[in-house]
Amino acid sequence: MSLGNLRDLYQQVILEHYKKPRHRGKTEPVHRSQRGHNPSCGDTIELTLQLNEAGDRICDVKFSGEGCAIAMASADLMAGACLGKTVSEALEMVERFQGMMKGEVEFPKELRKLNVMQGVSQFPVRIKCANLTWHTLKAALENPDRTQPEAGFVSNELD
Ligand code: ZN
Repeated sequence: MSLGNLRDLYQQVILEHYKKPRHRGKTEPVHRSQRGHNPSCGDTIELTLQLNEAGDRICDVKFSGEGCAIAMASADLMAGACLGKTVSEALEMVERFQGMMKGEVEFPKELRKLNVMQGVSQFPVRIKCANLTWHTLKAALENPDRTQPEAGFVSNELD
């Protein structure tokens, strides 16, 4: 597959998730809530999470917000990938995603859909758009008592 075709494929997947997101909305109930903002592009996102009773596994993730196709598609892909994962597995995925955007690692076969975002890493200004949702997820998972988005939002400006 030529590089041009590969880039088209990335774009196709990104646009598909942007136009027809599968995980938009709000979880019921909300066990974690976190807002994130990417000032360099203007993307904003709000994640809500539903956890299991023990609070160590993700039962559902939903997102809302406004932003570019890359930020929104990345949120939709992330939400799908995190379903059923433990909190520590999800935090590992955050690390892996950031590593992938630096060209260091790839996702294994069962999560290979996430590798489409690698196409974005060729455009440094867009990396923050793709990272926003993961950055926000990390903050949500690391703040156990946060159920109200008003409690604050994370900005990825300093990445
Ligand atoms: Zn953006």
